[in-house]
Amino acid sequence: MQVDYQILEILDEIKILIVEDSKISREYLKKILNLHYKNVITAEDGLDGIKKFKEFLPSIIITDIRMPNMDGLTMIEELKKIHNHFYTIILSAHDEKEFLKDAISKGVYQFISKPIQIEELLNTIGEIKKIYIYQEKIKRQFQLIESILNSLEIIVVITNGTELFALNQYGLQFIGFSDLLELKKEHKCICEFFVNKEGYIQNSIDWLTKVKEAPPEQRKVIIQNYTTKENHIFSISLYDFSLNADYTIVLFYDITLLEKQKEKLKELATYDFLTGIYNRHHFHTILEFHIEKHKRYKELQAFGLLLMDLDHFKQINDTYGHLIGDEILKEFTELVKNHIRKSDFFARWGGEEFMILTTETTKEKLLLFAEKIRRIVEEYFSAHQKSINLTVSIGITIFKQEDYLTTLIDRADKALYLAKEKGRNRVEFL
Ligand code: GH3
Ligand code: MG
Ligand code: MG
Repeated sequence: MQVDYQILEILDEIKILIVEDSKISREYLKKILNLHYKNVITAEDGLDGIKKFKEFLPSIIITDIRMPNMDGLTMIEELKKIHNHFYTIILSAHDEKEFLKDAISKGVYQFISKPIQIEELLNTIGEIKKIYIYQEKIKRQFQLIESILNSLEIIVVITNGTELFALNQYGLQFIGFSDLLELKKEHKCICEFFVNKEGYIQNSIDWLTKVKEAPPEQRKVIIQNYTTKENHIFSISLYDFSLNADYTIVLFYDITLLEKQKEKLKELATYDFLTGIYNRHHFHTILEFHIEKHKRYKELQAFGLLLMDLDHFKQINDTYGHLIGDEILKEFTELVKNHIRKSDFFARWGGEEFMILTTETTKEKLLLFAEKIRRIVEEYFSAHQKSINLTVSIGITIFKQEDYLTTLIDRADKALYLAKEKGRNRVEFL
């Protein structure tokens, strides 16, 4: 990513707090510093210093040691409890050397002996300002990176596979945590949140190696959303962490919606909407597969085709309406489904035309099978649907070595035509 770092520029002036009980020294210092810095405020003792600190949020505190109410070092100690993003300059008199050790332990940046050499003080403030700006810039860069990472609806992880070193806000929320440290108290590895399901990366210590070895389309994992308890599918991408080869940046993209749409499209491309059996498109694929297989393995026993067309279906629609017509089509489908083998392929070929591909057959077997279907339809509808005498005409054929998809279908079609011509409700072989 490339950033114009102008957006991180520190525009606000550095703020200085002077804590000094002598009014003359205080006013004098403020006047001098104001020549160089706009934001200078004063406090008259330690207590007042704390109050002004809270209001003013200075980055530099210049303080005297001995003061009424609260001395300078106690004040610094108290301020550190609020936060410690400030620099302290102590103004010390000659007789205050015993405080120095204590002051060092409190992280004081510099001592300036009284009487104050203004030049020395200004140099010190100048130094601090440089460090402050530098640190502020780094802080802002971090904030920028953090806000970018947290704004993404992607789970971002830095890990060596077994241990977790970074996880963005979206990831934390997704698995039900608000804080990385809290998460790490209970879990070591992000993989502990993977739901084990075949075809997806599993919850195991070598998950990262497994991801690396898997082809990109198989780099998928399921993680449960803590709030909704729904399983989401994520696609995983890996990036090298340039600062340390032991760590990897792992991105989890939520592809649940895409996967669902893919599933839906696959279903639409395979099954007939009304009857739920294969559609014409998918049956084509099945036919092509069998033709190819039988051309290659000539010793295989032939497969047969049944092309079925309901008789006078238009009349049924005209008499009972299209909706009843649809119900009859579904009923016919269920009936046939119950009388075919698991190895048969049953499809809706068109409006009221259906196709069955049956494997390992002979002309005799095929005739018997088709005749059985024809009879079952006739019997079923004359018995169950008193006023609807539905029958079916069936054209059948067997695969020949010289066949192609078109020649095979063409023969079944012609056989069907013959069955219609010869009076319907019958089977013809060609
Ligand atoms: P035959 O096949 O015996 O020659 O006569 P038919 O009346 O069945 O043949 P035709 O091809 O003339 O008409 C087929 C009818 O099937 C026309 C159409 O209204 C109906 N049909 C096709 N698809 C559907 C469907 O999805 N639902 C309903 N209800 N009817 C359909
Ligand atoms: Mg028809
Ligand atoms: Mg018909």
